[in-house]
Amino acid sequence: MRVLVTYPPLHGPGTPTLGQNRQFQWFRRPTYIYPLVPASAATLLKNERFDTLWKDAIAERLSWSDYEHYLNTHRPDLIAVETKTPVVKQHWRVLRRIRYWLPDARLVLMGDHVTALPEESLRNSPVDFVVTGGDYDYSLLGLVRHLRDGAAMPPGIYYREDNTIKNTGPFELTGDLNDLPFIDRELTTWRRYGERLYKRLPFTYIAAGRDCAYGRCTFCSWTALYPKYRVRSPENALAEIEQLVGQYGVREIFDDTGTFPSGKWLREFCGGMISSRLNRRVRISCNFRSDYLLREDPGLMRRAGFRLMKIGLESASQETLDRLCKGTDISRFEESLKRAKAAGLEIHLTIMIGFPWETREDAERTVALGRRLLKEGAADMLQSTVIVPYPGTPLYREALENDWFRVAPDDYDRFDMTTTVLKTPGMSPEDVRGLCAKCYGGFLAPTYVWRRLRDVRSLEDVRFLARGIGPVLGHIGDFAHRPRKRKK
Ligand code: SF4
Repeated sequence: MRVLVTYPPLHGPGTPTLGQNRQFQWFRRPTYIYPLVPASAATLLKNERFDTLWKDAIAERLSWSDYEHYLNTHRPDLIAVETKTPVVKQHWRVLRRIRYWLPDARLVLMGDHVTALPEESLRNSPVDFVVTGGDYDYSLLGLVRHLRDGAAMPPGIYYREDNTIKNTGPFELTGDLNDLPFIDRELTTWRRYGERLYKRLPFTYIAAGRDCAYGRCTFCSWTALYPKYRVRSPENALAEIEQLVGQYGVREIFDDTGTFPSGKWLREFCGGMISSRLNRRVRISCNFRSDYLLREDPGLMRRAGFRLMKIGLESASQETLDRLCKGTDISRFEESLKRAKAAGLEIHLTIMIGFPWETREDAERTVALGRRLLKEGAADMLQSTVIVPYPGTPLYREALENDWFRVAPDDYDRFDMTTTVLKTPGMSPEDVRGLCAKCYGGFLAPTYVWRRLRDVRSLEDVRFLARGIGPVLGHIGDFAHRPRKRKK
């Protein structure tokens, strides 16, 4: 049985950020984030001797005709596509096209949006199976085994039978992440993926866990939909890093777990990085929380080879943080960054603009705080996004209950940050996008530029700086350009 795990070409104002990434956006300057769970699915399938194909038409920048040619040449029996809210309607159209080309192929959708609303895709597209739950690597394998051998279908699968939609009950998150094989990097064309904010090349991604021990932020789709937190053992994560360094010469890794594990797990991991001397060969960057920086030992992390922490500031307003259940204290935020910086860690801050309860002054304060932290050297990178309430999150439910939507709640094409989908009293959608763009202006401030130039130590640093210029200008453009015209 030939199985294709794929991202078909999509139409939009840039490159879409699909995959495990939590906030969908079209990037004008291409950024391809490694889709770790689909890559794990492809690896599992290949290891079970299914004829497994991987075709990321987005990362390969394939045209529709190239993609059609690929499908017609390889004629897979099953085609699995990861989708997300802003492109789910496009994917419905894509599946209709694929059904026309390959009428016998079984079509599968997986990902957060279809986990929240599984029946919707079965009603609106020719999809044969919707895989719900965050372990769509294990679930896809179970489904394919069912189709080949007649084994029982795994829980969490929605399908059609006798013109009615049926399902195999709620999904389970019982897979032990330590049992997963290490991702087959060659099969999944790992060299195509990588954001430009990583310094040392070759660079790749791993995930030590799924997905965040905290797991309560109301806008976070992964943790809202798949609430069970699991981690690999530190030894298992270290063994994969050893493989990446030894076999592929990887020199920097981003761990894309929602929040990197902390406490005893982190100490053991750091100890392993130091004792194996991996800390001398590879840098680790990860998502982290500001309150964890207060209770963990950033000095130990630095010694273990950590370089950059992505930290969600989200807002300068404590009221907003509380309403989002962020669980952080704004009065201690700068202290947490100072601890990390004193240890030599770099900080990438993320902020969000456009909450329905937010005043213009609140939003401006958030932007000003982000820019000040950048200017003073408490942060090294700053990223801003428009808040988007994805189906399945508490924020989406709150928006429905409070009539916060300024577009129809199922006008999913608009959930792509090219406009605001929530009402923002006191701010127009252009104001919100303008404030997002203003954040990136912080990178052009003379003090910031001077600091970055002063920190240059090697040719690698020069190349890193040069790589960073494009994305900054691109992000300004992402928010500065007019929203695209909608297709009728
Ligand atoms: S800390 Fe990050 S990953 Fe964890 S729930 Fe909040 S937004 Fe999601």
